[in-house]
Amino acid sequence: MEIKQEIDRLKKLIAYHNSRYYDLDSPEISDYEYDKLYARLKELEEQNPQFITADSPTRKIGGRAASAFAPYKHLAPMMSLDNTYNAGEIREWYDKTASALGCRNFEMVVETKIDGVSCSLTYQDGVLITAATRGDGKTGEDVTANIKTVKCIPQKLARPISGLLEIRGEVFIGKEDLIKLNERQQEEGLVPFANARNAAAGSIRQKDPAVTALRPLSFYAHSYGWGDIGAESFTDFINKCRECGLPVSPIRKVFTDIEEVIKFYEDFSKELHTLPYDADGLVIKVNSFELQKKLGVTAKSPRWAEAFKYPAQQCETVIKNINFSVGRTGVVTPVAELEPVKCAGVVISSATLHNFDEIARLGVKTGDSVIVERAGEVIPKVVRVVKSPLNAKAVLEPKICPVCSGVLIREEDEVALRCINPNCPAQIKARVQHYASREAMDIDGLGEIAVDQLVRFGAIKKLSDIYNLTLFDLMALNAFGDKKADNLLNAIEASKKRPLGKFIYALGIRHVGAKTADLLASEFGTVEKLASAALPDLERIEEIGPVIAKTIYDFFASEEVKKELNSFRLYGVNPLPAPAKKEGGPLSGKTFVFTGELKTMSRTEAEVLAKANGAKTSGSVSSKTYAVVAGAEAGSKLKKAESLGIKIMSEEDFLALLKN
Ligand code: ZN
Repeated sequence: MEIKQEIDRLKKLIAYHNSRYYDLDSPEISDYEYDKLYARLKELEEQNPQFITADSPTRKIGGRAASAFAPYKHLAPMMSLDNTYNAGEIREWYDKTASALGCRNFEMVVETKIDGVSCSLTYQDGVLITAATRGDGKTGEDVTANIKTVKCIPQKLARPISGLLEIRGEVFIGKEDLIKLNERQQEEGLVPFANARNAAAGSIRQKDPAVTALRPLSFYAHSYGWGDIGAESFTDFINKCRECGLPVSPIRKVFTDIEEVIKFYEDFSKELHTLPYDADGLVIKVNSFELQKKLGVTAKSPRWAEAFKYPAQQCETVIKNINFSVGRTGVVTPVAELEPVKCAGVVISSATLHNFDEIARLGVKTGDSVIVERAGEVIPKVVRVVKSPLNAKAVLEPKICPVCSGVLIREEDEVALRCINPNCPAQIKARVQHYASREAMDIDGLGEIAVDQLVRFGAIKKLSDIYNLTLFDLMALNAFGDKKADNLLNAIEASKKRPLGKFIYALGIRHVGAKTADLLASEFGTVEKLASAALPDLERIEEIGPVIAKTIYDFFASEEVKKELNSFRLYGVNPLPAPAKKEGGPLSGKTFVFTGELKTMSRTEAEVLAKANGAKTSGSVSSKTYAVVAGAEAGSKLKKAESLGIKIMSEEDFLALLKN
């Protein structure tokens, strides 16, 4: 009876953590801890097979498809790999494999196990037609529109493969890119990602492809699910991928001796932190496809591959204090000040606590002994409390801004606490620094120290005050000598004529990064036109989704911003207009959606035809759709088009349009 209870408890726990990981992209425990729970359940089930039920997580592959995206049924199941954490288990895998093959001299290929999100890419005659997440292994989510924004993934293969070809791989975010992305998240008042995997998962599951386009996603192909690329082994497959223009991992080693594999695993643990991306282990595969076929698969994973993981880099230390920092948009982030501790070769003295929900979840107090985890180059985080002394102090959510004593609020869709005082010095400083940064107005000499003094002494209270600075103001501060002050005034003068895109970016509108700012500049031409744009004008832009459009609209609708723009004008800030957007062929800029069964061609062929004539295609109907081409048995997309009043065409209409 006790065993059954433990099995039930484990099943519930694993289901809960599966949901945190796969559906919410917000795991609460490390992979290592998860794998331990899973291994315990598997062990108990093996010893007590009478308690195995069909709904056990050991019988299923993982998360289920969430509903925000259309379900996509994989051509062949996307399996996950079995995990091992020590040399003994990897020898066990090798012995099992060798005895199944009846030989011990087969080739094994080792690659790094990148911490990202599995993704399948389906090409028809060399053209990318679908991209999907793994989901439960049988059915994933159709994320084609988002994946098409990932620059390194070819929309067309360099060497076309006829018929269907399904390539699988890992979508991930590099360490440096994650740091930059998290800085941006924080500036925009959003919660930074706990790790690279969450960032990648969150990015490819955006409802708005324009947001995905702003995320620095990378991809490495690592296997295939369907079709024939003409390879006989995994190494051969990788070469073929290269020829097709599909990115692959540069790290790959072939072995025939398992002891050498184990030595490589041990040595490589020291190099893990030098990789440009987060990796949590190695993947070993039997190289020959013929042997892979001979070994086959279990209900959950292939027998010819195994993940060889490293435990997370964790260590124990004490929280000395918890501080609050205020960012550009007023977001208050709690940061734990730690007793310095060496973790995986690096001294850690602070760790992020993300937000107050996280503090409550961890139950963390000042004075607690905690486990901190370092994952790659990301800011270390507190994983859990080990012990809490009697005199530990609870962390109280601040009621007022730690910098300006202004009111703090929590917006409905956010977990972040935000200072809404527009005159909060912490925010003004961060905003001025952003405005003057190289990517924005590039004002040399307006760095952290100068900004700190100018804001503290009241010389700058809002962005446009930068242009009201005088030599007298600057000379009054001890950060400036004659020459330095002159140079800064010249740099400020020069910034009055920056390209419009830089100016829009410099304003620091939430969700508007450098790329979106350039896009807005070329769409509207002048800041006046952008500022007076109606909401539908913003929503009409293909690359900008409804959320961003609304944020931009609200920004320019504010009285405060109107006054600021007027001041900029009076000071002679006159950004260089962007060249107007050019219009192309007859179908260009029009988005078509194909649905139902067409008579003379497949939907994919129709999409290729449309694109060849300058049109865009999409898998879903929205107000931006120009027309829906409906074949036989068209379903929900046709209904949606009717309800939105989108033009509906027959296949004949579409072909006639192409002829004109
Ligand atoms: Zn404040």
